[in-house]
Amino acid sequence: MSRAEYTVKNSQQLLLMRKAGLITRAALDAVRKAVKPGVSTLELDKIADDTMNALGAHSNFQLVDGYFHTICASINDEVVHGIPSKDRVLRAGDLLSIDCGAEIDGWNGDSAFSMVVPGESSDAAAIVVARQQLSDVTEQSLWVGIAALAKASHLNEVGAAIEAFVAEKASEHGRDYGILEDYIGHGIGRTMHEEPAVFNYAVRHKGPKVGPGLVVAIEPMITGGDDSVKVLADGWTVSSEDGSDAAHWEHTVAVHEGGIWVLTAEDGGLAGLAPFGIVPVPVQG
Ligand code: MG
Ligand code: MG
Repeated sequence: MSRAEYTVKNSQQLLLMRKAGLITRAALDAVRKAVKPGVSTLELDKIADDTMNALGAHSNFQLVDGYFHTICASINDEVVHGIPSKDRVLRAGDLLSIDCGAEIDGWNGDSAFSMVVPGESSDAAAIVVARQQLSDVTEQSLWVGIAALAKASHLNEVGAAIEAFVAEKASEHGRDYGILEDYIGHGIGRTMHEEPAVFNYAVRHKGPKVGPGLVVAIEPMITGGDDSVKVLADGWTVSSEDGSDAAHWEHTVAVHEGGIWVLTAEDGGLAGLAPFGIVPVPVQG
């Protein structure tokens, strides 16, 4: 398959993907509610797994060769792919990123969020404030990307919009933000990862034409410093090279005849897209 192609999903298939998207959302919401100091990332993993299973789905992360957990839980300078562990215990003020995906009826969802662990932190107040700001910028950049997709003629307009927004925020906040280059978003459907690539930054080629039936996971991964990363000795965890904190936000988004629909947002993207004057349109069953 060339980079200009992707598997088109019809309305019936988008409705199945919505189901996978909402179960992914439910698992992430359950995790978010359980986040507090003293909780281990392995406990969060069980909450996500139990939530998916209770809704008739299973974790698609467990289908990835060599990965045995339901979520990835990445803390502070870890950007993505952190492995849940009973020894990773949350502290107040930590910047936590949770990524997970559900598969049901052969269709997939994929979504992630970041948050600062509530409570009185032993880290300096300025560090905790900067972590929240980094998460906010990353979340906003995701919505900038989704809004760009709604209006795009070609897919790579998404990454150009994300990069421009992040650069603007860096100058506004007087700090560095690094967009990861080697880790990007992707098409999604019968498998969690499929064509096309979804960049979080401007690239020279335009990418595939955006049209009905395109479903992508848009997922900016941003550090509060340089964009260089390394993979830790566990073979999975991606961490910033310079030790700067990192955030990760992700949604699975469908383009269809009627408009755009954020499959992993409870409201389909209504609130997130409102500032852009875009109203998401659900596919009718
Ligand atoms: Mg993900
Ligand atoms: Mg993804």
